[in-house]
Amino acid sequence: MTELMRKAAASGEAVGSFSVGNMEMVMAAVAASEATGKPIIMQIAEKRLAASPLELMGPMMVGAAKSSEMPIAVHLDHGLTRECVRAAMDCGFSSVMFDGSLLPYEENVAVTKELVDEAHSRGIAFEAELGVVGGNEGDTAEHVITYTDPDVAVDFSRRTGIDCLAVAIGNAHGNYKAAPKLRFDVLERIASMVSIPLVLHGGTGLTDDDFRRCIALGVRKVNIATASFDALALAAKEFTAPSDAPDYFGLSAAEVDAVKANIIRHIKVFANIQEV
Ligand code: 13P
Repeated sequence: MTELMRKAAASGEAVGSFSVGNMEMVMAAVAASEATGKPIIMQIAEKRLAASPLELMGPMMVGAAKSSEMPIAVHLDHGLTRECVRAAMDCGFSSVMFDGSLLPYEENVAVTKELVDEAHSRGIAFEAELGVVGGNEGDTAEHVITYTDPDVAVDFSRRTGIDCLAVAIGNAHGNYKAAPKLRFDVLERIASMVSIPLVLHGGTGLTDDDFRRCIALGVRKVNIATASFDALALAAKEFTAPSDAPDYFGLSAAEVDAVKANIIRHIKVFANIQEV
């Protein structure tokens, strides 16, 4: 993941980090990367493992990444417990996130540092988050947005040794209820003070212009989840009319196509591609 973000930085791009929850989504992510010729990150959040268990998803994600000719990183999104972060590392994920953003600050520093040291000793990259991204990622509670404090971002990244930092600048997980107003000034200040790449969560529903401005200011990884889950659910709904005969294979292909199209759309914006 670090290598992909470094290359993206050199060309003024960001790497798309796409959430997956089943085999069709894994196939779609790989196919989108291959169709565009752009590396991606494939991710799953700890809270999603209730529906898509790590012992099934992990080997499938790692296997799909390894068998593709494209460089594809496999990432744990929003790890909330030490056990899950370690289980993802054991599965062969190339990067992990520990999200201690709701913990007391000193506890967040201590747990993050402990896990960063473990990850780095295994050659695994590490993401953390400061401030609170709105909405939720597989949680029941809606979080209220708290902007990332640039001074805290400096202290946190220095003390923990993380490889990239997820920022809260008015972004939220899930479909936005009202058009978000991103604080580009906060992003700019963090980027001017912190040397590691920045990560934008809550990509679903942001405009192409929002993405471009964030990337221009130093965002190197953009997370997309809901838009892909919705694309799959909608494709399934449209494919299966009550009078139609059951067609599992047609349904599976329709799901792959819909998620692939969504991922390609986002990759094109993040990589500044006009046409594929
Ligand atoms: P969305 O569901 O809003 O795309 O957010 C994705 C995300 O940030 C996952 O961590």
